[in-house]
Amino acid sequence: MNRKINIAIDGHSSCGKSTLAKDLAKHFEYIYIDSGAMYRAVAYYLLERDIDPSDHQKVISVLGDILIQIKNEGGKFRILLNGRDITEEIVSIRVSSIVSEVAAISAVRKKLVGIQQELGKDKGVVMDGRDIGTVVFPDAEVKLFITADPDIRAQRRFDELVRKDMSTPFDEVKANLLHRDHIDSTREDSPLKMAEGAILIDNSFMDREEQLFISSKIVEEKLR
Ligand code: C5P
Repeated sequence: MNRKINIAIDGHSSCGKSTLAKDLAKHFEYIYIDSGAMYRAVAYYLLERDIDPSDHQKVISVLGDILIQIKNEGGKFRILLNGRDITEEIVSIRVSSIVSEVAAISAVRKKLVGIQQELGKDKGVVMDGRDIGTVVFPDAEVKLFITADPDIRAQRRFDELVRKDMSTPFDEVKANLLHRDHIDSTREDSPLKMAEGAILIDNSFMDREEQLFISSKIVEEKLR
């Protein structure tokens, strides 16, 4: 099983894509890349500088000043914005509330997709996002599309924010993820949709182990 492949994981907001991607990467000793963190990093940069994401000309003019790097620290994914580790800060609701608007800007996507494709060129990558199987790695050997019931997704994100000391009212969390799903699925550039050849997994009633078990069987089948 030495052959390396790429695994593309797409799906709705807060449905456990990152958890699955991390678990698969650990299981197969692959590199995990959270593409959403890159869009969040750009959104964070704009927030810090009070740049309105609807001012596309302004956003485009600062893109060249944004350096995004990823690091793997003891198997853990970290993201750096102009040299600063912002992995923890970017999950906040402030960032979540503008990130989909930022991610709908084609110039932003072009920059980040370029970085993502470079990271996956030697294979052995598990990447999660919204357009990984359709745009970033259309030739990925395994493509999964993950979804779950919106209330269950909102509860998971709510619990995550509580754990990270960023507690946010449940209704706000749910409204935010439905809002992001809407923008992500209806935008013109690279809308969220199932890639050709993707396998759909609804994990509403699965635990972490079950989701890993099912997905790793799919990967093993491909590696055989
Ligand atoms: O995965 P996460 O929820 O952190 O992503 C944040 C946002 O970034 C998504 O709601 C979406 O708007 C955007 N995104 C994207 N394409 C990706 C990954 C994330 O448009 N590949």
